[in-house]
Amino acid sequence: MAIVGQILFALVAIAAIGFFAWKVGRIRSNILLGKDVEINDRKAERWKKMALVAMGQKKMFKRPIPALLHLAVYLGFIIINIEILEIILDGLLGSHRLLFPLLGGIYPVFISFLEFLALGVLVSCIIFLIRRYGLAIKRFHAREMTAWPRLDATIILISEILLMVFFLTMNGADLTLQRHGVTGYTQTGLFFFSQALMPLLDGLPTGQLIFLERFCWWAHIIGIFAFLCYVPFSKHFHIFISFPNTYYSRLEPQGKMKNMPEIAKEVQLMMNPEAGADAPAPDDHPAFGAKDISQLNWKHLMDAYSCTECGRCTDVCPANITGKKLSPRKIMMDTRDRTEEVGIARNKGIKPGEDGKTLLHDYITQEELLACTNCQACVEACPVSIDPLSIITELRRSLIMEEAKSPNEWNIMFGNIENNGAPWAFPQSDRLKWSEGVMKE
Ligand code: SF4
Ligand code: SF4
Repeated sequence: MAIVGQILFALVAIAAIGFFAWKVGRIRSNILLGKDVEINDRKAERWKKMALVAMGQKKMFKRPIPALLHLAVYLGFIIINIEILEIILDGLLGSHRLLFPLLGGIYPVFISFLEFLALGVLVSCIIFLIRRYGLAIKRFHAREMTAWPRLDATIILISEILLMVFFLTMNGADLTLQRHGVTGYTQTGLFFFSQALMPLLDGLPTGQLIFLERFCWWAHIIGIFAFLCYVPFSKHFHIFISFPNTYYSRLEPQGKMKNMPEIAKEVQLMMNPEAGADAPAPDDHPAFGAKDISQLNWKHLMDAYSCTECGRCTDVCPANITGKKLSPRKIMMDTRDRTEEVGIARNKGIKPGEDGKTLLHDYITQEELLACTNCQACVEACPVSIDPLSIITELRRSLIMEEAKSPNEWNIMFGNIENNGAPWAFPQSDRLKWSEGVMKE
């Protein structure tokens, strides 16, 4: 009979891990829909940034209370995986508490430590739920936080609470069975937190206790496999992708804009026409900026899949604060939704750009793009080193340079920069006139 359980367990494990790997492969090929860009420099600095920002959660600590709660969930989830290893081996080998003979007296200390982390995850997730639904925190109720993003966050929080409840109840039932001397339940010694459940369970008949222990064991591990399959469809995929995303993040100084080589060349030719006299004419005109995801690069798309929808960027965005439509979080969510849409269409044989839609206009409007002040506050605030401004810049370049849809005030400014070398309508020769009176004094 035990062999049936082992086979069932192996099938569930293979199906869950296989499905997860398949979906991650899909996301990878979606990210590669973006243009190629080489990010291969300053490797030591990149590893350091990943260690500090992704592993060390450095940027989270600008807001200490949510940071501590998030740290509890993060550490709990990572370290509890060691216990999952024991559960998986027990499931495959038909054993029970396989690590006990290896760890001996340390085993109850080890499980108690995991229970301490589990309690941290449990309490943090309950507080997160109360914050999300009980407190009027503006960033959780913004325009882009529609039914699905809210449901997604709730599903994950409730799943984590249930997983921890199953884990603690399983241990409590196990300890009670140990106390009753039931065969197959190794005498491990007490676990620090779940022993508190023993008085509640002590009165149950042995059959019911075994059922409860086995039910929680299966519910815990099946829940983890279900979680594994769900996460790539959710914003919680950031628990995996934020590591490579911070590694590949932008290392240039804040505010430095990437020049377009085509434009730089045009300007060089304007300054020195003879330099380009012998240069062959380009075969085709490159697209200025990006209208859709295939004109963004893979890092932009990786950013979109890394977004945790925390809204810290939108919280500090001056355009959003002053009531304008722009929300950098929505820019990231739209980019991910559009990438998913193009990916699904591609799998049906429709090439990128042939479905009649584009990221610019169909998802992100002109009004949103023009509201951005290029202040970089969103880039600075993002805890996983996402750069929403880079996507805004590319889309705005397309809007202005390809579609000529810039407001008249901007056109006047562009003309002034071209003619006067400054955004103001004064000739360069008058530039220092303001200082004449000052100098006389
Ligand atoms: S750079 Fe643009 S999107 Fe980002 S915070 Fe500033 S105004 Fe908002
Ligand atoms: S871009 Fe960064 S700060 Fe903004 S919602 Fe996504 S993860 Fe949060």
